[in-house]
Amino acid sequence: MYPASIEQYHRPATVDEARAAYAAAGGEAMYIAGGMSLMQAMKSRVLSCRALIDLSQVSELRGVENSGGRVRIGAMTRYRAVAESRAALGPYQALADAADRVGDRQVRNRGTVGGSLSWNFVVACTPVAALACGASVSILRADGRRESLAIDDFLQGPMTTALSEGDLLLGIEMPVPANPASSAYRKWGVVVDALPTIGVAVFVELASASSCRNARIAVVGLPGGPARTPRAEARLKAADLGDPSSLAACAKAAAEECDTAADPWIGASYKSHLIERLCLEMIGTAVRRARSQMS
Ligand SMILES: Cc1cc2nc3c(=O)[nH]c(=O)nc-3n(C[C@H](O)[C@H](O)[C@H](O)COP(=O)(O)OP(=O)(O)OC[C@H]3O[C@@H](n4cnc5c(N)ncnc54)[C@H](O)[C@@H]3O)c2cc1C
Repeated sequence: MYPASIEQYHRPATVDEARAAYAAAGGEAMYIAGGMSLMQAMKSRVLSCRALIDLSQVSELRGVENSGGRVRIGAMTRYRAVAESRAALGPYQALADAADRVGDRQVRNRGTVGGSLSWNFVVACTPVAALACGASVSILRADGRRESLAIDDFLQGPMTTALSEGDLLLGIEMPVPANPASSAYRKWGVVVDALPTIGVAVFVELASASSCRNARIAVVGLPGGPARTPRAEARLKAADLGDPSSLAACAKAAAEECDTAADPWIGASYKSHLIERLCLEMIGTAVRRARSQMS
């Protein structure tokens, strides 16, 4: 099926031009980033608009930067660029892990961090990784105000975010912690390198080689979209990182506090099993990566 006709196509060079183009279309416009999700929705006529505003030429929305104690990722940074920016991402390797395995090569060459967060599909990889990393989301509101929201407040349920009509997501940023820290993400899916059945992202900041100062764990593959697991996080903060049974108890706690639901391919209890296994593995990877920074 072909999309309903699109009367105008704009390719602004700055965020101000993008916002002006949106306003000029009188509320009948949509921003397009990589087009990987939006074009499917337009071709099937689930969505339609009079004007498309293509963000691909807005250079200020592109890139991964690590400076002044903060890691910033522009909304128009494509998955491939994120996956190739491990050095700049510092402790936020989970975002590179996620970007590295999104879809296939074509999707990674086109899809963007901002598109994924704005779309917030129920089982997407970037939102759950950003949730574990404790990102702040920068938004340019339609009325010109700039705002920063915690990712926990930005993600509001499947395909729902704190963005309102005409708002532009500018990017995300995270602080570089004072102590050795890292993160990891892995998904398991029925089809390799496609949307996850279950994915788990873990962030740790170490207090010592065997203890955590801070920990965040987020799971995707749940009916309500990505969610943190507060009880497992509390256990990880109190855990002896050198004790395998202590880490196994964290992973078990994560599985127990997630309400999984069966789908036509995978039963709920197997999904719980996946959460436990992936969580244990990602705790191990994040801790190993963080320890490698200790002298
Ligand atoms: C074959 C295939 C496999 C895939 N596999 C995976 C996978 O394994 N894991 C995964 O996570 N995802 C997967 N996806 C989805 C993919 O990640 C999409 O790229 C993503 O959902 C949308 O990003 P995009 O840049 O293409 O955004 P677009 O499709 O261009 O836009 C999506 C939505 O976001 C809005 N938007 C985009 N940018 C902004 C902005 N800066 N400010 C405000 N609104 C904005 C658009 O208006 C639109 O509503 C897959 C997609 C395909 C086609």
